[in-house]
Amino acid sequence: MSPLLPAVAAGADRPALSFGSRTLSYAALRTAALGLAVRLGGKERVAIWATPTLETAVAVVGALLAGVSVVPLNPRSGAGELAHIVSDSAPALLLAAPGEQLPDALAGLPRTDVDTAAVATTAAAPLPEPDAAAPAFVVYTSGTTGPPKGVLIPHRAVATTLDALAAAWRWTGDDVLVHGLPLFHVHGLILGVLGPLRRGGALRHLGRFSTEGVARELADGATMLFGVPTMYHRIAQALPDDPALARALAGARLLVSGSAALPVHDHRRITAATGRTVIERYGMTETLMNTSVLPGAEPRPGTVGVPLPGVELRLVDEAGEVIAGAGTADGTPRATDGTPGAGGRTPGVADGTPGGPGAGRDAEEVGEIQVRGPNLFTGYLNRPDATAAAFTEDGWFRTGDMAVLDPDGSVRIVGRKATDLIKSGGFKIGAGEIENALLEHPAVREAAVTGEPDDDLGERVVAWVVPEDPAAPPTAAQLADHVSTRLAPHKRPRAVRYLDALPRNDMGKIMKRALGR
Ligand code: ATP
Ligand code: MG
Repeated sequence: MSPLLPAVAAGADRPALSFGSRTLSYAALRTAALGLAVRLGGKERVAIWATPTLETAVAVVGALLAGVSVVPLNPRSGAGELAHIVSDSAPALLLAAPGEQLPDALAGLPRTDVDTAAVATTAAAPLPEPDAAAPAFVVYTSGTTGPPKGVLIPHRAVATTLDALAAAWRWTGDDVLVHGLPLFHVHGLILGVLGPLRRGGALRHLGRFSTEGVARELADGATMLFGVPTMYHRIAQALPDDPALARALAGARLLVSGSAALPVHDHRRITAATGRTVIERYGMTETLMNTSVLPGAEPRPGTVGVPLPGVELRLVDEAGEVIAGAGTADGTPRATDGTPGAGGRTPGVADGTPGGPGAGRDAEEVGEIQVRGPNLFTGYLNRPDATAAAFTEDGWFRTGDMAVLDPDGSVRIVGRKATDLIKSGGFKIGAGEIENALLEHPAVREAAVTGEPDDDLGERVVAWVVPEDPAAPPTAAQLADHVSTRLAPHKRPRAVRYLDALPRNDMGKIMKRALGR
């Protein structure tokens, strides 16, 4: 395998990473990371206190060069979660920025401070290239649906997913990425830090996300923006009063959203103010990236695009039968059947209309997304049971996400099998489209939809709503009428619950477990 980060090895004198006013060139990053790699040699795993800092980036690159697996820790985790991760992953030591205060839960771990100006003190023999199948990372899942599991991500998966995104997005060393994502998950760390470094381009990290920071960096030469939907929501809210932000976004090469579904309402508001569509991509800790909207493709808000080069994707119904497949091992995206192992039926649109949004929706078959490819993890750490349960007999990974395949081959995620699929009156209803409909109501600020047991229907649709004005919330009847004008009658909420804010995790994902799912 070619080196993961050839531009770091070459060490050119051009910007690699900036965090606020602190910048490292490729030459300086090479020196600092090699200095650390020499100290880490021979260890199996190290934990990193993953604050959004240069130190975190240097620590990750140093560990990868040394062939040591990285366990990123979320600095906002509670003591119980940190204790679970440390005892589960048993890191040899903890890397942190100098002066960083660490919680008591980590007191038992030897600490090494990261020096961004370090030089190798020992004459280092050239570091051997790590094995492609060796774990580069152990990343814990967001814990949205259960206790976090340690996902073993091999070097091969990191390299192939970053190259697949580069091919899909024409991402090159001339690109300058801006984002304010946390660095303890795949999105901010693997895509958002290693992505630019693998291309030989630059990252400008905002430290903390702000719409002002986004506008400033895009106006000052950044070409790409990564964000989660809560960030694009803030952008959508700010745009009407911020012409400089609108100009900056209009001039960007690529606006990318992922980690959760981008509400269609926010997407449309951004397009209306900037003329730009947001590129949605779909991935998981276990699979890295599976699909992406292709820049220049016809905008289809609510879809996450087509399988990336090398990714095989299929939809499987409850009986285990393949409904549809797309994507091929050789990287040629191909809609519907013909995929090795897929051989499925063409997704049905009952009335035969090649559907625009909404057309024939109820007739389309919903299935679980299953994927295969070099982007996949190798297993959950210490969880052979969970690993075995996650794969089919023929080696496809069960994502737990439910979707339909649009007639053009785009994947439209309906929601998670465990929390977002409501079985009501003989229908299978996805929470996502009802949430999208509710968010279009002017009196609704945030919305989540769940199912609750119902004597007649099996389950009934329940809407959790954060009103724009808590003093004048929309009534349940108004919301039910509003949804009925957009979706089939059985999808209207039967009950509405009002909240001050939705329960969300650090990635802005709605924690439906806290809403009784
Ligand atoms: P856990 O597995 O611990 O419950 P999690 O699944 O939220 O947590 P991640 O691996 O960070 O942990 O998130 C992957 C999930 O995020 C996917 O399975 C999918 O449900 C959701 N997701 C990611 N990108 C998108 C997207 N563009 N649209 C809709 N959902 C998305
Ligand atoms: Mg998951």
